[in-house]
Amino acid sequence: MSKDMMPMFELFQPTDLSGALDLVERYGADGWKVAGGQDSLDWLKDRAKRTKAVIDLTRIAEMKGIRETADGLEIGALTTLTEIEESSLIREKFALLAGAASRVASPQIRNVGTIGGNVSQDARCWYYRGGMDCYRAGGSTCYADTPQGMNREHCLFGADRCVAVSPSDTAPALVALDASMVIQNADGERVVAAEDFFIGPQVDIERMTVLQADDILTAIRIPNTWANATFYFEKVADRKTWDFALVNIAAAMRVSGGTIEDIRIVAGGVECVPRRLSVVENVVKGSAKNADTAKLAGGSASRGAIPLNYNQFKIPLLENLVMRAIRDA
Ligand SMILES: Cc1cc2nc3c(=O)[nH]c(=O)nc-3n(C[C@H](O)[C@H](O)[C@H](O)COP(=O)(O)OP(=O)(O)OC[C@H]3O[C@@H](n4cnc5c(N)ncnc54)[C@H](O)[C@@H]3O)c2cc1C
Ligand code: SF4
Repeated sequence: MSKDMMPMFELFQPTDLSGALDLVERYGADGWKVAGGQDSLDWLKDRAKRTKAVIDLTRIAEMKGIRETADGLEIGALTTLTEIEESSLIREKFALLAGAASRVASPQIRNVGTIGGNVSQDARCWYYRGGMDCYRAGGSTCYADTPQGMNREHCLFGADRCVAVSPSDTAPALVALDASMVIQNADGERVVAAEDFFIGPQVDIERMTVLQADDILTAIRIPNTWANATFYFEKVADRKTWDFALVNIAAAMRVSGGTIEDIRIVAGGVECVPRRLSVVENVVKGSAKNADTAKLAGGSASRGAIPLNYNQFKIPLLENLVMRAIRDA
């Protein structure tokens, strides 16, 4: 496979959202939206995917920056991960998201990679990225879910032909913060809860999110509901930097007088979508925030898990991350 040069495509660089919306409508599935390019360029350079037109969104000023709103924050989809990590507004109110952004990849990638691209990125399964004709690529088999398949990084929950996982570090934090995603196309705007933005293979095996070819994610809104809550983010990967999560955990909780009054806790790297751990939430709500509750919570996190041949280690990993989130947040 040639990795020297990208295949030919036509490049468009609209300077406003309406120009970009015209282009995505005109090209549909033949157009490829690019923000920081950190996921997209791999596909094109590896020639695993091709496109007729690249629509570069990075000149659209209205999709950049972090604004305070009446009931929270709005983050333009083109805001870089570094800007999120360093934003005083985000650090003050939603340190969970700043922490998650700071654990993505490397400083160089965070300097150009955007929050919109981070949540819209494609699966990192080796076979799929290598250009193999698996289910997710429109074929009729899964190479990872076989006795010899390389499935160490794959899912514990929600398998349906495909066993790939959600690779984003910011996604679990956004679901924990009850964020919503602002999506526009030629017909107008719709707002989707972050929890419903990510979709599994049972909904559509060729997409990771609700975004269609003619949709542009313009912004992410975070309500004040969880501002200044007690937060916990931890990511475990094979390397400390420049590596995807084996499992990550994001939790937002309200603690009063030593009791966990409310909580949202979400894991990445265990399912095709960020997995909201509702069982854990129910176990700990109303309980003392202590080591006993944390242990119970950890034990409940893996309920229903179906490990593959080489990812059984993810069960104790998930349980321990949940235990630490409750105990150490
Ligand atoms: C070496 C390496 C290590 C990495 N490590 C991590 C990691 O540890 N954690 C992690 O979470 N990620 C990681 N990534 C993945 C990813 O590249 C980055 O997270 C980055 O944030 C992607 O953002 P981008 O703007 O560069 O995306 P792009 O490549 O520009 O876009 C990614 C996808 O999203 C779509 N898209 C982008 N913006 C929009 C929009 N506004 N509306 C609709 N669709 C859009 C594109 O069409 C494309 O399909 C890594 C990538 C590399 C190359
Ligand atoms: S896990 Fe999904 S992406 Fe990977 S080979 Fe199987 S079908 Fe393809």
